[in-house]
Amino acid sequence: MALLGTKTYKNFIGGEWVDAASGETFESTNPANGDTIGAFPKSGPEDVDRAVAAAREAYEDWRLVPAPRRGEIMFRFAQLLTEHKAELADLMSHEMGKVLAEAGGDVQEAIDMSYYMGGEGRRLFGQTTPSELPDKFNMSVRMPIGVVGVITPWNFPIAIPSWKIAPALVCGNTVVFKPATDTPALGERFVELLVEAGVPGGVINVVHGGGGAVGKRLVAHPDVPVITITGSRETGVQVLRDAAENLKHVHLELGGKNAVIVMDDADLDLAVEGILWSAFGTSGQRCTAASRVIVHRGVYDSLQAKLVAAAEAMRLGPGWEEDTDVGPLINRDALDKVHSYTGIGQDEGATLLTGGEVATGNGLGDGNFYRPTIFGHVEAGMRIAREEIFGPTTALIPVDSFEEAIRVANGVEYGLSSSIFTRDVNRAFRAIRDLDTGITYINAGTIGAEVHLPFGGTKHTGNGHREAGQAALDVFTEWKSVYVDYSGKLQKAQIDATE
Ligand code: NAD
Repeated sequence: MALLGTKTYKNFIGGEWVDAASGETFESTNPANGDTIGAFPKSGPEDVDRAVAAAREAYEDWRLVPAPRRGEIMFRFAQLLTEHKAELADLMSHEMGKVLAEAGGDVQEAIDMSYYMGGEGRRLFGQTTPSELPDKFNMSVRMPIGVVGVITPWNFPIAIPSWKIAPALVCGNTVVFKPATDTPALGERFVELLVEAGVPGGVINVVHGGGGAVGKRLVAHPDVPVITITGSRETGVQVLRDAAENLKHVHLELGGKNAVIVMDDADLDLAVEGILWSAFGTSGQRCTAASRVIVHRGVYDSLQAKLVAAAEAMRLGPGWEEDTDVGPLINRDALDKVHSYTGIGQDEGATLLTGGEVATGNGLGDGNFYRPTIFGHVEAGMRIAREEIFGPTTALIPVDSFEEAIRVANGVEYGLSSSIFTRDVNRAFRAIRDLDTGITYINAGTIGAEVHLPFGGTKHTGNGHREAGQAALDVFTEWKSVYVDYSGKLQKAQIDATE
């Protein structure tokens, strides 16, 4: 594709493409070579306030549009995403760094989610129940809430916005969207396609800029009753604090420290494939990335040897080159953070088996490339086995039993995804019961969510909500219980009268 380089992008507020009130801009750059992708409005609280006012006004009409009509717009959006899939994947490989196949998968998730939520326009089911009293009808219905503040990270720059914006709109809310500052061009394309699909001006608004200036104002704004954010644990805690004063609905999707368990009866070649994909796919920059591998001692040496050999065969390069296995990290800060964990692991006494260095040869020096890194003989209490690194680093932790494997897997503050490789069906079902995570895979890696099931985690991965599936509707609607008395007289419920 022709990359835009010098193009200056705008915010979208009340149906108009506009500059930031300050007139200032920031740049988005290509993490594989440092090229400029474009300049974007460096917005502030004033821009957020204008977008919220526009969304508030648009809400009054949008909430009255029949939900099946709102769903049809989502179907058109899904079709447009399909038509533009190759272009979006190419842009993603340049702006975010993902390899093309994964970038296509990111767009495909958004297509699937948009179709799924389009269908919700004809469901949004409530309940009907019998009444305690004669000649009385009871039901519950889902009601939209108002303006939803959508704040997204850079690692799934098309999929994650769709996971939030598609259900928010189908449920009858309007949206102010703040994309991550590392992937604003993708955020902008997402909104352009929504508008092309028929979402009216004011119903979707985009305000570019940083978490401190734009995100914080959105979270604090009294006319934004719902905040949905995917990001780090630290950001989630701050958002919860900032939203407390207005008692907002806050939906948090945060970090992970996901484990693959490999038992002594596992198909080791299958396990190696699953671990490689989960640990090094998207260069380990997935909330569901396998940053721990808990291995039964009976197969530890064999698994370690196979895994290290396979990791060393992975090719680093720009995401848009067909034979690239591992793309760059998102920016220099991420590179520094990941490399600092290599030092931490070594200081803690773990064995660095492979990787552990910035890759600069073969023209990689201008990008943020880090070699797939594996630590061996890691102890469960070490920082590299407890903290989210968000890069291509994984820790092999030997254990003696299934029970110990479960204990170690659960011994972290996060609870997003988990997996076990075993041929023993009893162990598999015990793992499903005992692993304290929102998602568990059997004989697969820790990644691969499908849009019609709930997505999210336990413990510090979130605050009890779920994205995707029907569960997402609970974030974007309030329940209303309705009682219709057709007896023609005043019937008093909950009065202890027998006559
Ligand atoms: P981040 O927390 O730095 O930023 C996420 C978003 O929040 C960005 O748009 C940022 O500008 C904004 N933000 C930052 N501070 C804010 C504040 N005080 N108020 C409002 N908004 C603020 O995260 P990131 O580096 O973009 O993404 C990586 C993190 O996201 C990792 O921890 C990863 O595990 C997590 N993640 C979780 C899921 C999930 O579904 N659980 C999915 C993807 C990523």
